[in-house]
Amino acid sequence: MPAERTPQPDCLFCRIVRGELPSKTIVEDDLLVAFHDIAPRSPTHILIVPKAHIPSAADLTEEDGPLLGRMFATAASIARDQGIEDAGYRIVTNVGRWGGQTVDHLHLHLMGGRAFDWPPG
Ligand code: 5GP
Ligand code: ZN
Repeated sequence: MPAERTPQPDCLFCRIVRGELPSKTIVEDDLLVAFHDIAPRSPTHILIVPKAHIPSAADLTEEDGPLLGRMFATAASIARDQGIEDAGYRIVTNVGRWGGQTVDHLHLHLMGGRAFDWPPG
């Protein structure tokens, strides 16, 4: 495992993964955890977070294919369970400051329950 992927003591999402901070968990497996965003921007707003500390999508490699497949399949499964599949939804990952990333641990935003503008603001 590359050094930067080891659990980080002060990373917010590493702390949630370790159970040091509470979260409203929806799904957990060997690779990821999914929980409700603390400040939802849409009626459904769920974060899908790998257990490994990967800083952002910019740090992914081809070897992360299985993890990414799991993350997207989990998002689709949660979307079905949450009843947002038929209307449609958005999956977003922000990268860096101008991309709007505020937590430097890779995550997908699964957002639904309302219509979204395109392009995003
Ligand atoms: P980003 O801005 O990096 O794309 O997304 C970070 C997300 O994490 C934001 O939507 C923010 O509301 C959410 N967030 C920040 N702190 C916490 C927390 O302590 N718990 C949960 N569940 N979500 C958080
Ligand atoms: Zn982390």
